[in-house]
Amino acid sequence: MDNRGKVADAASSPASHDEILYRLKTGHDRFLAGQSIHPHANRDHLRELEFAQHPEVAILSCSDSRVPVELLFDTGFGDIFVVRNAGNACTPDTVASLEYAVAALNVKLLLVMGHEQCGAVSTACGDRQGLTPSLLELTREIRTGLLKHDKSLAVREACHIHPRITGDALLVASRLLQDRVRSGEVQLHTACYVLNGGTIEWQGEIDGSKV
Ligand SMILES: [Zn+2]
Repeated sequence: MDNRGKVADAASSPASHDEILYRLKTGHDRFLAGQSIHPHANRDHLRELEFAQHPEVAILSCSDSRVPVELLFDTGFGDIFVVRNAGNACTPDTVASLEYAVAALNVKLLLVMGHEQCGAVSTACGDRQGLTPSLLELTREIRTGLLKHDKSLAVREACHIHPRITGDALLVASRLLQDRVRSGEVQLHTACYVLNGGTIEWQGEIDGSKV
């Protein structure tokens, strides 16, 4: 079955979690192979979405300019509900945005995707003197999560662990997300994007019952 560019077609035929994940991974495979087809990228498709959107996945990633989510997964208008902040951290805005994706848009799969060489994670691991109050707050969130998990603050390891920590934190912060994940209606996965080569380390699903 050729699933190329069919991410947004879920509105007409609800997809399983495995199918949604498969589409993400095959889109990324196309990107890696230099065979991106840039689906749903024209104005005609945008026009079809004017009054409704039906993304089947929501992704929380870093705002880093090297992490363009739609390009990495070879998707287009209407395919992915994207939430980004520096360091893909669990913040009130992040939680609210993902709750909206799940409750209002009926998104069935959540992906927290960190990346190597993350400046926000690196800052959280290092000297934070001189940061603005807002940056202190953001990096405090990241640093606190890392320190709870492991006393080591080695940046590379932290970049790989941090998506998992954020995923757990989302479920602690949101009763709605926790309930949907525990019931199996929504799956929450994490991943780490490796800038050198563009590969993605898929870290699997978070078991909501253990949070
Ligand atoms: Zn980053």
